[in-house]
Amino acid sequence: MKILLLEHPRSFNPGRCNDIANTPLASCLLSGYVAGLLDSQGHEVLIVEGYLDQLSYQEISTIISDFRPDILGVHMVYHWQDDHDLYAFLQQIKYDVPYITAFGFYPTIAWEDLLEKCLAMDSVIVGEPEVTFAELTEAVACGVYPDNLPGLAVRSRVGCQRREIIADLNTLPFPIRTEALYRLGEVNILGSRGCYGGCTFCYINPFYGQGSLWRGRSPENIIAEIDGIIAERGIRSFYFTDPNFFGPGQRGQDRALQLAALFRMRDIHFGIEARVNDIHDRTIEALADAGLRHILIGLESGKDSSLKRMNKLTTVNQNEEAIKILRKYGMEPNIGFIMFEPDSSLDDLRTNFEFLQRNNLLKNLSVTANVLYHNQIVLKGTPAYRQLQSAGRLAVQPASTYEGVPSFENSQVAVLAELMRQMTNIIFISMDDIWSGRATQQNHSTSGALNRLLVKTFDDHLQYMKAGRQISKEQIAFYADDFGKKVHSILTTA
Ligand code: SF4
Repeated sequence: MKILLLEHPRSFNPGRCNDIANTPLASCLLSGYVAGLLDSQGHEVLIVEGYLDQLSYQEISTIISDFRPDILGVHMVYHWQDDHDLYAFLQQIKYDVPYITAFGFYPTIAWEDLLEKCLAMDSVIVGEPEVTFAELTEAVACGVYPDNLPGLAVRSRVGCQRREIIADLNTLPFPIRTEALYRLGEVNILGSRGCYGGCTFCYINPFYGQGSLWRGRSPENIIAEIDGIIAERGIRSFYFTDPNFFGPGQRGQDRALQLAALFRMRDIHFGIEARVNDIHDRTIEALADAGLRHILIGLESGKDSSLKRMNKLTTVNQNEEAIKILRKYGMEPNIGFIMFEPDSSLDDLRTNFEFLQRNNLLKNLSVTANVLYHNQIVLKGTPAYRQLQSAGRLAVQPASTYEGVPSFENSQVAVLAELMRQMTNIIFISMDDIWSGRATQQNHSTSGALNRLLVKTFDDHLQYMKAGRQISKEQIAFYADDFGKKVHSILTTA
């Protein structure tokens, strides 16, 4: 069978340019893993990087005509609204492709919407896709369009039975990587799936559908993949796209130490993502010595009651201790931080702000712009979505039920959240060429001046509100416009 896996073109949405949370990095190798399994079973697989290779639908159409796949699998990561261009494209090629399915994080959460709105799709794969895709391929090869495969949602059947997850990830063939993925500089690698945490806003575990469960590949299996990449490509720079690099408890720390010992002998550099309660001195020392160069940690809040509300199962003390340990070994962490939760009070925002200042996390413009803005994003399938919906506090757009817009408990928090969204978008758009590497670096004093402006603006507006004065929704545009003029003035006088 011939299978074409499509990473479809994605459009830039200026209103959402700093919403990183909806693009789970853990998804970036899904097509590669599906391709690896199908390839190992003797099928001919082609991955088309519509997004990374910036292909037009016309160009993709030509590739499909040349390849003539029996099955087209569309990998979908996230959508801010219905992707009419993609749906129209699939409708147009439907006559040339016998079977079309979709897989990934977004289809898993929004499969009912997709089947209703995109009639060209024959099915949607829900959850971990590899085994379902392989069984689907076998069925289609026999001329059967299955309607009762676990993990497969179809129009003719109500509901979708989840498939058991892959218990032993070592049984999966290594993912197939495209040239576009190798061009990213660091090679993405997935050492584990899922998370033993259960944050209310997170849809990693809802995707796998098995509650709070972390599964790790063995250190030997991971190092075999790394050795293969070094031998084939000579690349020694890696990024672990695991939502949580560490497994739970002491066993998780021991596994990390085993990995560190193997990495140390290979002269590699790598990055990871982790929970703060897994940041321990001995393990970080060993990983840093083995080539760990950057890390993302989910701090989320500077207030214990907020962490509790999010079911983060961590404390502010653990946040601060993790930052100290990482800095001790020369790493300035990237951080996940949710400044504005639906239940935030102005006091919570002040506590968050002081936490960020106290821990020197408002010194770098790209970090400041993120942490002073981030709203809690509420995605279908997460506990937060269910809680807010049942409390009648979630507006769901008819265009897509995927993301809900929560109403804030405190109307002034809502105003400040919107104000910061507009102001930080001005920063992100102004800095886009520099931060994306298309233009030369801004001089240090300019980015310092922008950073000070952003921090002061947040502080001033918060103080103003805490003094009992109100900012109306109508005034938001005025303040954002004024902020934009100040940004322009700093950039043009630099
Ligand atoms: S720790 Fe991270 S990956 Fe785990 S549930 Fe929380 S947000 Fe998700």
